[in-house]
Amino acid sequence: MSDQPGVTFESALSERVRAMADACTQCGKCFEVCPITEAAGVADARPREVLAGVVDILRLGDGNEAARKWANACVLSGECIKACDYGVNPRFMLAMARSTMARARNDPREQRRQGVQDFRKVARDVTHISRMQLDDQLLARLGQKADAPPSDARPDFVFYTGCNVLKTPHIALLALDVMDTIGATYQVMGGPSHCCGVVQIRTGDVETSGRFAQATMDKLAGSKSGQVVSWCPSCHIQFTETTLPTVEKVRGAKPFEMTPFMLYLRANLDRLRPHLRDRVPMRIALHKHPGVHGVVEAAEDILRAVPGVELVDLKQPAVGAMSNYFRALPALRRELQQKELDAAEAAGIDALVAVYHADHRELCAHEAVRPFQILNMLEIVGASMGLRRDDKYKRLKMMNDADAIAADCRDLAIRHGLDPETTRAVIVSMLEEQPLPVAPQS
Ligand code: SF4
Ligand code: SF4
Repeated sequence: MSDQPGVTFESALSERVRAMADACTQCGKCFEVCPITEAAGVADARPREVLAGVVDILRLGDGNEAARKWANACVLSGECIKACDYGVNPRFMLAMARSTMARARNDPREQRRQGVQDFRKVARDVTHISRMQLDDQLLARLGQKADAPPSDARPDFVFYTGCNVLKTPHIALLALDVMDTIGATYQVMGGPSHCCGVVQIRTGDVETSGRFAQATMDKLAGSKSGQVVSWCPSCHIQFTETTLPTVEKVRGAKPFEMTPFMLYLRANLDRLRPHLRDRVPMRIALHKHPGVHGVVEAAEDILRAVPGVELVDLKQPAVGAMSNYFRALPALRRELQQKELDAAEAAGIDALVAVYHADHRELCAHEAVRPFQILNMLEIVGASMGLRRDDKYKRLKMMNDADAIAADCRDLAIRHGLDPETTRAVIVSMLEEQPLPVAPQS
């Protein structure tokens, strides 16, 4: 696959943005169905005017205040995509509006500096938090050791973890255990060396984002299988809505198709079912985010296949791609989490179960003060299959004491040569990632 003459990632992306701005009729339907307009303080704005503002930003104008606020508050629920009758992807338009606004705010040097700074923070936290929990062998299993021996076997697909699931490695390891048990062959890729480019696009540094994403994409495409199964919704949305369609314009073809892990697993339910042997007698509720279409439904189908599990619907709103996308709406994030935890307690469930890693990070410490467990859904699936992985992240987070956590992880930190001062800063930032404070319940 060679590049089309004169077409770069940046020019192809600009062309896509231009075409989408032209195709948008500014009918405003996407705005009408968006679940966060009230929390974003734009509920009273006129939908058509907001969309006119979004299109104006994409055409390098200032837009209007409601358009800027809406774009900045988007949590990637994707309700807007379903509402559009014109084949436009409003979520992508808003991502590009944010990127365009960041470009207008800062010169290229500053965009790059911020992108580098944000990427370094992600890389630092992922590297340290995973190494505080895993030995070399498990790091290699998750594709985090450059000297891991290459496998000659041709894999069915690449399993792309993204970066941040490595902070809660029991989740990623369980995904691998489940795939091993059903006989899938795969190659694991992910971590900061396989960046999806989302950090840089947020700061407006499209060129670096394109470079990173294309380098990662080339590695992911190297499996010869033509299929990539993704774990992280953020990477999935970045690749399927920004990178892959843009690279298709640059190279004339998409290098691979990407399938979310939950959809892959549900498609393989017949292979999974014979391994769901042990009863897991639990009443559980699913913490839901609809950002990647079909994932919630797939997770429910998989959980229903586990003998003994009773799935309880807490009737809570399902919003956004993952909890950590509510950065611009901290009050809404707290309110949603508080209401869900209270509803879970009132329903008398045994466990509140999340699909994604960021939700687990934000919710797990509440287990200390609630009469139910906070689990990842693969822990339920694994329990029925005889698979178990220690959730060290939750144990550390529930200590809520940076010194105690540092002491607990000291041996592994020394073995991996982690700098104590940086490790401590990472632990502090891990404890600070607690949108809803853990408070004793009366
Ligand atoms: S993105 Fe679609 S739904 Fe939204 S205003 Fe444009 S045409 Fe209408
Ligand atoms: S992706 Fe979701 S939050 Fe973002 S604009 Fe669309 S509906 Fe609103």
